[in-house]
Amino acid sequence: MRIDGSGTLRASCVLCPNPGPMTLEGTNTWILREPGARGVVVVDPGPHDERHLERVARTVQEQGAQVLMAIVTHRHPDHTEGGRYFSELTGAPVHAVDPEMRVGGAGLVDGEVLTVDGLSVRVIATPGHTDDSICLLLESDNALLTGDTVLGHGTPVIDGDDGLGPYMDSLYRLRDIAREHQVRTILPGHGPILSSPLSVLSSYIDHRESRLDQVRSALRAGATRVEEIIDRVYPDISEQIRGAAGSSVRAQLRYLAVRDELSAEAES
Ligand SMILES: [Zn+2]
Repeated sequence: MRIDGSGTLRASCVLCPNPGPMTLEGTNTWILREPGARGVVVVDPGPHDERHLERVARTVQEQGAQVLMAIVTHRHPDHTEGGRYFSELTGAPVHAVDPEMRVGGAGLVDGEVLTVDGLSVRVIATPGHTDDSICLLLESDNALLTGDTVLGHGTPVIDGDDGLGPYMDSLYRLRDIAREHQVRTILPGHGPILSSPLSVLSSYIDHRESRLDQVRSALRAGATRVEEIIDRVYPDISEQIRGAAGSSVRAQLRYLAVRDELSAEAES
């Protein structure tokens, strides 16, 4: 499926040409606009790729519209690095949870509804991929922008050793929200849009839970080092993403340690 230009009534994707193992087909920059309105919101300007950023600005201009606000879904450079140049191009502030990622913009708080020229998006804090990750609920389109919390294919890496607990909580919470608000479309930070949010979120949850079971088995079988666990749990992994797998395994170990402590307490 073609990603560039895909979307919903109010959201359309401009695909940045930065494909890679972590960025899949490239970063999806989303332009959000209430039909007939002039003001738009841009989600994740992308990396510092001037041609891409100029193309986003031009796309908005060609629609007779104007960027009033940019938002980043989390601090990673493939989403944020272009923020400064994009803000220079458009005059729009960049809002972010992480103060360092803001460009003349404000913070973003869980539950807050941003209203821009008739368009409403709700901020949902979804720590895990990074501790500052957010999703955006575009309720009028029954759509959820997920940044790197949910990808168009594959599953994201968790940044940092303490991210898995929050990430699991975020997935369960997103599934509840998707049910409650009848979300029909996921607009991810990378990869194609997804049209069955509940089954995607359930498979994410199942995938993580089964990985945790595999790590448990590796530990039971005597694995003691992260490298040994990677070899058992991810036997076909490419060298390119081995470091990322290591960070996943460390997160899994941390999560299991907390869980086991809790269950040990529960048993005693
Ligand atoms: Zn990314």
